[in-house]
Amino acid sequence: MEEVSVHVLREKEPFSLAFTDDELRFTAEKYGTPIYLIDEKTLIEKVRELQEAYKAFLGNVRIAYSIKSNFNPFLLQTFMRLNLLFDIASLGELYFINRLNGNPENLIYTSVTETFEEFLYAIDKGLRRFVVASYHGVNNLIRASEVTNTKLKAMIRINPQVNVKAYVRASFRHGKFGVPFNSSTRDSTLVILREIIKSKNLIFEGFHFHLGSQITDTSSFIATLDKIENFMIKARKEFPNLCINTLDIGGGTPVCYDEPVPTAEEMAKPIVNKLNMLSNYYSERPSLIIESGRFLAAESGIMLSKVLNVKEFEGEKYLYLDSGYHLLLDSVLVRQNYPVRVIGKRGREGNGSKIHLAGIFCDSSDVFHFSPLSEINGADVGDYIAFYKVGAYSIVFNLPFHCQVKPPILFKDKDGNLKLARKKESIEDLFEEEGGYLALRDET
Ligand SMILES: *Cc1c(COP(=O)(O)O)cnc(C)c1O
Repeated sequence: MEEVSVHVLREKEPFSLAFTDDELRFTAEKYGTPIYLIDEKTLIEKVRELQEAYKAFLGNVRIAYSIKSNFNPFLLQTFMRLNLLFDIASLGELYFINRLNGNPENLIYTSVTETFEEFLYAIDKGLRRFVVASYHGVNNLIRASEVTNTKLKAMIRINPQVNVKAYVRASFRHGKFGVPFNSSTRDSTLVILREIIKSKNLIFEGFHFHLGSQITDTSSFIATLDKIENFMIKARKEFPNLCINTLDIGGGTPVCYDEPVPTAEEMAKPIVNKLNMLSNYYSERPSLIIESGRFLAAESGIMLSKVLNVKEFEGEKYLYLDSGYHLLLDSVLVRQNYPVRVIGKRGREGNGSKIHLAGIFCDSSDVFHFSPLSEINGADVGDYIAFYKVGAYSIVFNLPFHCQVKPPILFKDKDGNLKLARKKESIEDLFEEEGGYLALRDET
């Protein structure tokens, strides 16, 4: 376990060494800024780390990538080559996987809307594993399975209603996702289970839950697994042969941004212990699915930006970058503190002024929050600033606010070759997309 490649620093260190400062400066000068970079070796390493962490589970372990965190096709291909599962939640995501010739057997469809039409479309594309989370949804899935005469594996997404200590919580009481174990309405786990069991084409596969993102405390997992155990005891009174074939414990493995977090291994240990204690309730060959977006993708990504302007007054120093919150929305919206460095300078000495990194927009919230582990003190006009660990939940939020185009993405493959993985959008493309040509045509 100690053999960590030189490309990935330990969990507790903020900066990746996947790109040297010379490489970063070369890239910025050749392609311009702002620009994103993705490192394939880091992606591969993170998958291995997560797989290793859960290997003590008594059954089969599969890692599922949550495509919402970064759907760049180069990155998706890397994960496909590693035979990951994909956690998809929309037909758009399914389209991306299909176009890359992804294996439909590796897909789990977990939508919030659960419509009959989307189920039909997904079945037509070869999907056979679905997560349902409502009475309305399970009946849509049953109808879709009957119309297409297809056997489907159905998992129930539960809302365990446990207290989650995390940055983003997804399973709180009265929350939007999943169904409670015991509610007085038909939207309860037992009612949905009955629907699945009495249907002709659905096979009950197991449970799915997702507690949140950036979870640093395993007690919410343990509490959820306790609740699953209690539910199984109760449900077996009605269905004595009921077994869990797959348990999908969702995402949330944390990344170190501004303070140390437990490693994947440290998170996994107590969870696997508890999972192995539930062996009475498993089928002969149970599968555990670990979902992840952030842990798998974040550390691979860097955003490079240039300092264009500076202002210093009353102990405050503002550096104005050529990027804005459309490129790192999480930094502003959920105060995600990315670790930041000035390239080619040590960035430790300053004159004592408090440094702010501001974006280009005429909006006072367009100021980047950055990690206290950052090294930007010496930064000045003309310097390049690198935001680290931006591989998850950043690129996917790119917006055209203030007529801004999407920046390019460079992908460094595992052999060290730099490839253009998304071309820079042109301002003319944006003009057309936003209806510019339609407006001009209308005028003539
Ligand atoms: C977003 C999401 C994930 C991924 O969460 P991370 O914090 O990125 O690991 C996993 N499962 C579901 C259902 C999600 O919605």
